[in-house]
Amino acid sequence: MENTKELRTWLDDMNLSHPLVIAGPCSAETEEQVLKIAHELKDSDVSYFRAGIWKPRTRPGMFEGVGEIGLRWLKKVKEETGMKTCTEVANAAHVKLAIENDVDLLWIGARSTVSPFIMQEIADALAGTDKIVLVKNPVNPDLALWLGGIERLYTAGIKNLGAIHRGFSTYEKTKYRNTPEWQLAIEFQNKFPDLPLINDPSHITGNREMIQEVSQTALDLNFDGLMIETHFDPANAWSDAAQQVTPTKLKSIMEDLTIKKLTDTAASYREPLESLRAQINVVDDQLIDLLGKRMQVADKIGGLKKEQNVAVLQSRRWNEILGNMVLEGDSKGLSEEFILKLFKAIHQESINHQEKIING
Ligand code: PEP
Ligand code: MN
Repeated sequence: MENTKELRTWLDDMNLSHPLVIAGPCSAETEEQVLKIAHELKDSDVSYFRAGIWKPRTRPGMFEGVGEIGLRWLKKVKEETGMKTCTEVANAAHVKLAIENDVDLLWIGARSTVSPFIMQEIADALAGTDKIVLVKNPVNPDLALWLGGIERLYTAGIKNLGAIHRGFSTYEKTKYRNTPEWQLAIEFQNKFPDLPLINDPSHITGNREMIQEVSQTALDLNFDGLMIETHFDPANAWSDAAQQVTPTKLKSIMEDLTIKKLTDTAASYREPLESLRAQINVVDDQLIDLLGKRMQVADKIGGLKKEQNVAVLQSRRWNEILGNMVLEGDSKGLSEEFILKLFKAIHQESINHQEKIING
């Protein structure tokens, strides 16, 4: 993929004065439900109406989507509200039906992006289409797999492309349904700076109370848009009931979001910014260098502990270090919370190194 700028023409052509908004229910349930939500979203920032027609569910026996008939409901949405429509496709048959029924934008779900075979099947079925295709990140935090999926579509001649960041599953429960791992999304933007990147706070949080906060973070990180699941009766939705918001709530979320200017191209801003960023780069290199040196010392201590048969974890010494660092940090304007997090991470890395030395 050379010129990623041409891949965002579809978005630039929309000339939006706000981030792109895709909204609608997790699943199309009935014709009435789809049309009611669509009409409630009609006069808002929403450009694309979403609804899952084929639903990938974790366990069999759950509601797996209404199937083909739902595509006719999406057609009605377009006729009655003027909003464009989108749905998830997960195989060649879905692609064929979605195109036949005039769906405007297709997205590929997280459970499909993980499978190169499925991605290739979808890419082949879509070959040469001018539909917009968005690729969700795979469920596991694997940047190469995500990029690989996008490259398969690009190679099949699909030029209206984009990506959706919907977070990553973890074994341990966290406050998120799928942790955002923002660093990975930033890395994605570094690799393909022009490829439209949409955030999906609904599947990241799994919780409607957190949609606002995650959406704001995404906009602060220069995401191009948001995909937010919306239902007039979220609590009784047939899928993802905890994370959907009402159309009214969606509008208030959009109003409360702060949209920052992407960049101010004025030289008076850009020049000092570039020089300050260069300074940050230098300091970051020094930090890595110092951390590497610290680890070498920890390795030597690991060697000594092994010889003397002493336990890796020395709690008293560790509490002393933490106490001192909190004081030092405070004198440099660094919060206690930050110092504790930082040194716990450094300490954990030292322990890992020493365990290897002692056991290996
Ligand atoms: C969805 O958007 O409804 C969906 C199934 O998402 P994901 O692929 O991110 O789980
Ligand atoms: Mn969903």
